[in-house]
Amino acid sequence: MDNPWEVAQNQFDEAAKLSGLEDWLCSLLREPERVMTVSIPVRMDNGDVHIFTGYRSQHSSLRGPTKGGIRYHHNVNLDEVKALSMWMTWKCAVMNIPFGGGKGGIKCSPKKMSSGEIERMTRKYISEIACIIGPTKDIPAPDVNTDPQTMAWVMDTYSRISGGYTPGVVTGKPLEIGGSEGRNQATGRGIYFTILNYFKHKKQSVDKKNVIIQGFGNAGKYSAMFLEKEGFIITGVSDSTGAIYNSKGIDVEKLIKVKNKTKSVMNYKDAEKISVNEILELKTDILIPAALESSINSVNACRIKANLICEAANGPITKEADRILEDKNIVVIPDILANAGGVSVSYFEWVQNTQSFYWTAEEVDVRLRNLMEKAFNNIICIAEEKNISLRMSALMIAINRVSAAARLRGV
Ligand code: GLU
Repeated sequence: MDNPWEVAQNQFDEAAKLSGLEDWLCSLLREPERVMTVSIPVRMDNGDVHIFTGYRSQHSSLRGPTKGGIRYHHNVNLDEVKALSMWMTWKCAVMNIPFGGGKGGIKCSPKKMSSGEIERMTRKYISEIACIIGPTKDIPAPDVNTDPQTMAWVMDTYSRISGGYTPGVVTGKPLEIGGSEGRNQATGRGIYFTILNYFKHKKQSVDKKNVIIQGFGNAGKYSAMFLEKEGFIITGVSDSTGAIYNSKGIDVEKLIKVKNKTKSVMNYKDAEKISVNEILELKTDILIPAALESSINSVNACRIKANLICEAANGPITKEADRILEDKNIVVIPDILANAGGVSVSYFEWVQNTQSFYWTAEEVDVRLRNLMEKAFNNIICIAEEKNISLRMSALMIAINRVSAAARLRGV
């Protein structure tokens, strides 16, 4: 399995070289500013005490407080969290929002835990990392297997420790306690805007274009919903339990109901059941990897038949696979642009928290649409001018912005 930290560092090295970045900045930005590993003892429902391991990596605070989600998964490890925090730095910089990059996680199996166990684990983790987070320091958010309820516990725990109501310590909260309109759908909404921007630029109609989505969590689900409404046909979907395919299209609303009720896409009736590997290799106009890192790698990249890949997950394509796809002329819209809708609306949420003044759903949506369009145009313009991939273009823009801040702030 490819190590995401190596993938992230390799991507950085290539973009830094293309940008002609000074040696000291190459060394500085190649590593996180700070990482923390914590031990989290939790009383389980059966009375046993289980010790979980948690991490928080803060890659760069040069452009603002570090920002990024918290994930709960059995494969969470320090290298993964470091990679994800570096990608957050580039993502915030490419969107030009005033944050740096961070990411956290706990190695655990949340699907096998009760809600009470997850709450106790979350609260204990936050008390352990409370000294390094805060509205002007580091601001967590949802990621794989965490949701608005988890963020509510984060906010409550931190507010109790700091001695005052502090909604701005975390984003992705429920609306009732300082969340933003549109935050929960934002990653999918951003994917949808990105795909529309791409076809607008190509002067192509989107009507009846086929879409395959790997992963049916928050990002996959909402991408499917918005794309289907626009006239795209969702032909294949997978989750951790398996994959389904129907060339005539899958009814997304029905599928969401099935998934919510049974926790698996495999219980959807009107589709053929196929394997999770197979679905990535089917012919399609658009492939959206919306699961975990490295799902498109040196083993399967040569078999990918999509025309366009839009990265909803963070780091779904390894460095080697990137090269193979480029040779095959498959266009890849990189994660740090494509899935930036989430952190963009997180930024809006933090601004609203800071001012205690809340926006309407329409205001949030218009601002997100504008932000995504501006970033997209910037990236495509530089990619075409320099004849480089969209990933390299996005990384170069981001690295230039972060290094400008570093030079001005000094050492
Ligand atoms: N976890 C999301 C991401 O990877 C959102 C981060 C945030 O909102 O801070 O972009």
